[in-house]
Amino acid sequence: MHGSIPPAAPDPTPAELISARPFLSQGTPDGLAFEGVPLAAIADALGTPTYVYSAGTIRARFAALTAALTAAGLSAHIHYAVKANDHLAVLRLLGRLGAGADVVSAGELGRALAAGIPAERIVFSGVGKTGAELARALEAGTGQINVESAEELAELSAIATGLGRIAPVALRVNPDIDAGTHAKITTGLAQNKFGIPAAEIPALYAQAARLPGIAPMGLALHIGSQILSLAPFRESFSVLARLVRELRASGFPLTRVDCGGGLGVAYRNEPAPTPEGLAGALAETFRGLDVALLLEPGRWLLAPAGLLLASVVRIKPGPERPFVVLDAGMNDLIRPALYEAWHGIVPLAPPLAPTNAEPASADIVGPICESADTFATARALPSLVPGARVALLDAGAYGRVMGSAYNARPRAAEAMVDGEHWALIRPRPPLASLWADELVPDWL
Ligand SMILES: *Cc1c(COP(=O)(O)O)cnc(C)c1O
Repeated sequence: MHGSIPPAAPDPTPAELISARPFLSQGTPDGLAFEGVPLAAIADALGTPTYVYSAGTIRARFAALTAALTAAGLSAHIHYAVKANDHLAVLRLLGRLGAGADVVSAGELGRALAAGIPAERIVFSGVGKTGAELARALEAGTGQINVESAEELAELSAIATGLGRIAPVALRVNPDIDAGTHAKITTGLAQNKFGIPAAEIPALYAQAARLPGIAPMGLALHIGSQILSLAPFRESFSVLARLVRELRASGFPLTRVDCGGGLGVAYRNEPAPTPEGLAGALAETFRGLDVALLLEPGRWLLAPAGLLLASVVRIKPGPERPFVVLDAGMNDLIRPALYEAWHGIVPLAPPLAPTNAEPASADIVGPICESADTFATARALPSLVPGARVALLDAGAYGRVMGSAYNARPRAAEAMVDGEHWALIRPRPPLASLWADELVPDWL
């Protein structure tokens, strides 16, 4: 039987996008504001493209997640996944709130420490930690190293022994569960490079307990990102709980379970799980097990806390609808090109008096010489003119961190708002900085 293809639900309007985001508002004459700061003021001062993060949003989301965990009776600690947004100001803010960090490189470890997050609150994850990175993590006193293979475990033991240290270790389980998210951000399937198959965990845990440089503390997993259903979380948590029981029955005193990140957010208006839902799934699975829980959220804390300001360079007629060409490109925000991600796009200017004019449908593109440099296709927007400015919403996670200087475009500036205040937190680099570190051999 063939069902007819349902018409795609219409995109949410700018007004709907704003009303679903508590820290955004739209008023006259200031236009779009993030907390108490009109975004036009930041665009006037710094130019575009510029990322803007909201400290109030980060605080509110951290508080909501913590409150949900506490209400569910869980002893859980949040280790913010630094890769989502590694700016020192973001790390300082979250560290002051009590968050630890989940890092995946010596660089992220250095950033977390530089922002004042204590080493014992840092978890080091990742499938490709080098010997030098493991040594650096041990010397810094990193609180937990999540080991992803037997080979890494043996190497870590040897490095720790050489340094006269004992590595606090969790083994990362690959539960072979489909997170139901985009293939490029699924990490918990057997064919993914991450973690150790559940069936191999008991033997490897016993091995870890015998190794001289290793103190096994528990288990970890992380099955993917932008997960919009609780089912894969429940399934993977129950794999962990089963392994905890099995290992304890064999006499190993596991004290920690690290449940990873992955909680998704509604970029468009898709139904998304809540912190209460996640806390409920954790409580159901781990109640009575007496383990300390660790969580590694990145996107959920940061995505709605950031946006990317851009200006319309020009409007170019196209065969089906016009191209609105922005001064931000896929080098600034790669998520649409890489994952077909949908981002809300909202003009900064206040809406004109209501008219009968239909919103115009347009392709919103960047200036980069790649056709993938498209932020939105057939997007209905109030008609834009050259020079008009827009905000690409929910760009606080996996935005600037994934940016590049491709096409010799300096990376975007960054600002942070907090209540009525805002501050520049990273200037736009000057053009000459693009080649300042390049060396031309003297035989040329
Ligand atoms: C990326 C990552 C996270 C964070 O994922 P989000 O989807 O941003 O919450 C957490 N843990 C590990 C090991 C990761 O690689």
